Amino acid sequence: MPSIEALLPILACPCCGSSLLNDGESQILCDQGHEFPVVNGVPILFEPEERESIERDYGDATQMQGEYRKSALARVRSLVKRAVGSSLRLPIDPRVARTYELVDGDWRLEIGSGLVEAGPKTVNLDIGMFGGVNVVGSGCRLPFADESFSLIRSLAVLEHIREPQKMIAEMLRVLKPGGYIYTEIPFLQHFHAYPNDFQRLTKQGLRQAFAGCEVVVDGIVSGPSSALTALIGDYCELWTFSDRRWLNDIVRTIPLVLLWPLKFLDHVLVRNRRAHEICSGLYLLCRKPNTPVDNRPSLDAAPSIAELSTDNSDVSSSTPLDVRIHS
Ligand SMILES: [Zn+2]
Repeated sequence: MPSIEALLPILACPCCGSSLLNDGESQILCDQGHEFPVVNGVPILFEPEERESIERDYGDATQMQGEYRKSALARVRSLVKRAVGSSLRLPIDPRVARTYELVDGDWRLEIGSGLVEAGPKTVNLDIGMFGGVNVVGSGCRLPFADESFSLIRSLAVLEHIREPQKMIAEMLRVLKPGGYIYTEIPFLQHFHAYPNDFQRLTKQGLRQAFAGCEVVVDGIVSGPSSALTALIGDYCELWTFSDRRWLNDIVRTIPLVLLWPLKFLDHVLVRNRRAHEICSGLYLLCRKPNTPVDNRPSLDAAPSIAELSTDNSDVSSSTPLDVRIHS
């Protein structure tokens, strides 16, 4: 995980955009006098109005903390979910893994990182002090200088953002020309709030959301059979007419256990070009147009999209993706 000194050159004041200075161990400040606390080496960089908006939507993030907690029971739940859960994560196009190799050594940003561990040149940003987070801040007011990153990822985050276009505009601001954005978003999935869940996007909607970028590849991360079995479980759960979590878990799990082999049909069904019409989740890899405004180094030297189009399954298998789609 990078130290705060290593992060300072790419950090920017979320209030005025100017650069930040380390002022002792417990705070950092900008040229204009805006001050921000540093807790356990992690800078907390909220613009005050944005912080109020986040508190309105998410409270003090304790519900998210609960979802992310690493208790033994939570781990067992997670293992059972993966084994007999309704959702099957499909193989992603090898160009996505190839992109990660291209930007190796450059700064990358993970928005809504939760517990994902930060690599040496990775900024893990989230709205609370979760396990792997090294900068606390808002996706809609990113506390970074323009054109700081070569790769930005957001996995199952956009649906929880009240104004997703704000966050996308911020992602494009802090991305270098020629840099990449990889995003995943649910399509046919149940409402899942921690404590808010604002929208779903279709394949076309996801492309439209990143209309300022060149699409490298998009596809299905979780297919129609996953969507169907999960919705049957959720449908059965409604019949408990109860808010008791243990009861709902049991009622939802029974159909999921009975139907769990269905999800493997997605390996076949995903070949249908219309599979996206009722899939569970989508992904998009896109690239910011290369319109350099100065001579700063960017991905100019990286292969073009045409070169990227040459599939390389070795790269894919050696660089597994993090799994964080809801199930
Ligand atoms: Zn400032």
